[in-house]
Amino acid sequence: MGVCKYCGHTAGVFNEFHQECLDNYEACLNEMTELTKTAVLNGGDFQKLNARLIELAREGNVEKKKIKKAALRGWSQAVNQIVEEGVVSRSVERVLTEFKQFFHLSQNQLERVGSNKRLIRACIIREVLEGRLPDRSQSVEEMPFLLLEKERLIWLFTDVKYCEHKFNVDFVSKYKGIEFGDAEYYRPSSFASQLLDENQVVHLNTGLLGITNKSLHFTGPRRSFKINLSQIMSLTAFKEGLGVKRDVTSKPTIFITEDGWFTYNLVSNIRKMHL
Ligand SMILES: [Zn+2]
Repeated sequence: MGVCKYCGHTAGVFNEFHQECLDNYEACLNEMTELTKTAVLNGGDFQKLNARLIELAREGNVEKKKIKKAALRGWSQAVNQIVEEGVVSRSVERVLTEFKQFFHLSQNQLERVGSNKRLIRACIIREVLEGRLPDRSQSVEEMPFLLLEKERLIWLFTDVKYCEHKFNVDFVSKYKGIEFGDAEYYRPSSFASQLLDENQVVHLNTGLLGITNKSLHFTGPRRSFKINLSQIMSLTAFKEGLGVKRDVTSKPTIFITEDGWFTYNLVSNIRKMHL
């Protein structure tokens, strides 16, 4: 006789669980995720949320260790929704950070969900949109570029593919940003369909791409160069990265950072400070 892994009662020959126990388990798990998402979006009471999550886990025979997982999933969904709807405000950032502390989410757990990285990057975008130079950039042990006197590193991308487009094309953007003062914010979904045709570009090198308040610096084993932001004629967003055109006669330079949303929001708005 098999024993149901959810309720512990006999489940019949060859059965490991009752169908209704499985359904109940899944419904409770989903509700835990949903409740968390709603609580985060509404800036809710995490003490109350936690009590309800424990209750639901009991009702659905959900293992204790899965409570945190469901909460993290709900938090992630909330982050993605917030970033899609617009710029992450300071007060929303505070709620999102409080949640991480309340549930004692470790760096390791957070790194496993892409939304934590997305949140950090969204906050940097907000600071740039506000016309300020973010001071939360990663610490760089040794500056790989030669910076000018008032030049400051805002972000350093690693493993960036530096490519050149085979043709002198002008990309046409199909998306529109959300106005934020004089700046503009582009949602992650704007980039989803902006795919780079890798057959149309030549991969020249892979290295570091530094974004400063004055330039884009690239350095790799074979090439090192910089592009002044004031010398850029146009920028194009791709899901995978950024296209930069310096003048009408040159072929676009493409930087594949694997995060076009962040790269484009960052560079286009820092560049606006120079226009
Ligand atoms: Zn059962």
